[in-house]
Amino acid sequence: MKIPQEIQIDPLDEPGKILIVDDNPSVLAALEKQLEHAGHEHISARDGREASDILKNGTNICLIISDWLMPKMDGMELLSNIRQTPLLENIPFLMVTALESTEDAILALRKGANDYIRKPYHPEELLARAGNLVKMWEFEKKLHRQATFDELTGLYNRNNFRLLLETEISRAKRYGNTLTLIMFDIDFFKKTNDKYGHLAGDMVLRDLGAFTKKQIRDVDYPCRYGGEEFALILPNTERIGATVLAERLRKDISLLAIPVSEEKFLSLTCSFGVAEFITKDDDYESLMRKTDAVLYESKKNGRNRVTTAPH
Ligand code: GH3
Ligand code: MG
Ligand code: MG
Repeated sequence: MKIPQEIQIDPLDEPGKILIVDDNPSVLAALEKQLEHAGHEHISARDGREASDILKNGTNICLIISDWLMPKMDGMELLSNIRQTPLLENIPFLMVTALESTEDAILALRKGANDYIRKPYHPEELLARAGNLVKMWEFEKKLHRQATFDELTGLYNRNNFRLLLETEISRAKRYGNTLTLIMFDIDFFKKTNDKYGHLAGDMVLRDLGAFTKKQIRDVDYPCRYGGEEFALILPNTERIGATVLAERLRKDISLLAIPVSEEKFLSLTCSFGVAEFITKDDDYESLMRKTDAVLYESKKNGRNRVTTAPH
């Protein structure tokens, strides 16, 4: 089986859209024109409530330019809601208003606006301020990506693996959900590096990561634990279901032909360990130990196999 071309590892982020919010249609139209002229993608809302709906639908927003005084939900309420909503809380916010007092400006900034501009403004000034905020957002996103994902495979990195697993353990304890961890390790990977070089080895890791990501559910977390070791955190999954998944992955991985040059394709196998989190006995360390132990069993018993920890 060849790796399909369409598998994309950590696709580059699309540029975000600027959300503009104003109840005055002519102000909105003028702003749309200015942003278009400056090459910014944008989306418009006529009040805070419409803006909230757009944000709830998960549109990729890189900046909010909002009027203050509006019917239904004003700019200040929108700002305050955003700053209290996980995933939205850090989006840059530029308040535009006809209110003139310095106290108002201070209030907006204190409530979390990143910048503030008074009407009437010069379009170039607004664009310059907006441009700076978008740049800051892109930079933050880049830092966040580097802190969260493994550069080579695009999977969650080891730091984040621990955070994710601890979060899912808390959830499992609190709600009584099931939770299973799969760890797998490429068999004899050192030989692949020795024979074909580290660049070829890197290609194998990258494609294996992308392939794995495609095989699991959106709610599962695929991680690169270390060099050639991967971990899958499977919320709401029992060991039986996880074992079926691991077995299917094991078989499918063994059938892959991974291109490392125009004419050369490599195949590989992996050894798997599967362990379920048992609420009354386990914590992060014990779950890791159990999973490691069964992964070691798979290696010891001949590799290219799945071993599941007993209850
Ligand atoms: P086993 O079946 O017992 O797991 O054997 P192994 O050779 O896979 O295990 P070992 O731990 O001896 O070697 C792991 C190898 O993984 C060593 C190293 O060259 C390779 N490796 C780890 N990280 C990377 C990486 O980022 N890129 C490449 N190309 N190789 C890596
Ligand atoms: Mg290893
Ligand atoms: Mg190995």
